[in-house]
Amino acid sequence: MSNWKDNIRIVDPYTPGEQPKDKNIIKLNTNENPYPPSPLVEMTIKNFSEDLNRRYPDATADKLISNLAKYHGCDKNQVFAGVGSDDVLGMLFLTFFNSDKPILFPDITYSFYPVWAELFKIPYQTIPLNSSFEINISDYNIPNGGIVIANPNAPTGIYLDKSSVEEIISSNPDSIVIVDEAYIDFAPEGSSCIDLIDKYDNLVVVRTFSKSRSLAGLRVGYALSNPEVIKYLNDVKYSYNSYTLNSLAIEAGSVSIDDEAYFRKTIADIVNTRERFAKELENIGFDVLKSSTNFLFAGNKNINTEDLFNYLKANNIYVRYFKSPRIDNFLRITIGKEEEMERLIEKINEFLTQ
Ligand SMILES: *Cc1c(COP(=O)(O)O)cnc(C)c1O
Repeated sequence: MSNWKDNIRIVDPYTPGEQPKDKNIIKLNTNENPYPPSPLVEMTIKNFSEDLNRRYPDATADKLISNLAKYHGCDKNQVFAGVGSDDVLGMLFLTFFNSDKPILFPDITYSFYPVWAELFKIPYQTIPLNSSFEINISDYNIPNGGIVIANPNAPTGIYLDKSSVEEIISSNPDSIVIVDEAYIDFAPEGSSCIDLIDKYDNLVVVRTFSKSRSLAGLRVGYALSNPEVIKYLNDVKYSYNSYTLNSLAIEAGSVSIDDEAYFRKTIADIVNTRERFAKELENIGFDVLKSSTNFLFAGNKNINTEDLFNYLKANNIYVRYFKSPRIDNFLRITIGKEEEMERLIEKINEFLTQ
């Protein structure tokens, strides 16, 4: 009898949203951007030199990092890039959450946080959101080994005002506070904490190209902080896998930052569709949480939400349903193109009147 099974690092993995092969499916389940990436990105990918595939990529991803530093008006040594923000977040957990005290995050938030904590054997404590799904900042004034907050939060879409986030950061000077800004580009102007990275040495802001820049498939994410934090992060990265971002991701990701006009236009279109669609859902009896993201979290107490989810799926419309306490009568619906949202409303109405 061999006993190798006693020594497995057994994990209960994160469950990503489904990626169906059928092109006819209206896919509103993983918060992807319905619009293509900037034409500059498409051109860069088309002209990508095959010869670059023969060589290792630039381990420092200098082209991308330099462009991000320029874009955010900070120094190159304040930027860390990874294979999507999941890679960046995982690396941050591994690097900075190494205390016996628990790390803190909300009970309802990005469901990857507890998975990394389990994987890296980091003790954690979830802090319940209030009955309106908002963060009560004084709940975070307890001994902890770190804090992670998605702002705006997922899957609720709710934004915590910047002064409240700042208060969490300033009242926890002995902990690294990660602010995951995956959806910040869909929030009102001036919402980001990026301009606080020079003020607080315990703040790390994480961003992704997957949602607002339409590049989920390319896998590009980054963190901004002070040079010391970025150095520790790089030390861990180079102790695990030096070549994270591939050459194409470095090139195309970098170019995406140059097309500010296209970026602003697609975001404005998504925000307009979001506001219109939120009203339409309310008109047919849904409670819709105020969203600062590219998705809505909506529920209707008079229906069986799982039945609606399955009905939509049977009609080739995929949304996300979490069968978890407190949120099992909500659907998370990514904002797609206008015509996709119209089709969705049509099918929801069909379900309500059947
Ligand atoms: C989508 C998402 C991420 C991960 O995005 P990547 O594609 O890995 O960059 C991280 N945090 C939150 C809250 C998200 O919704």
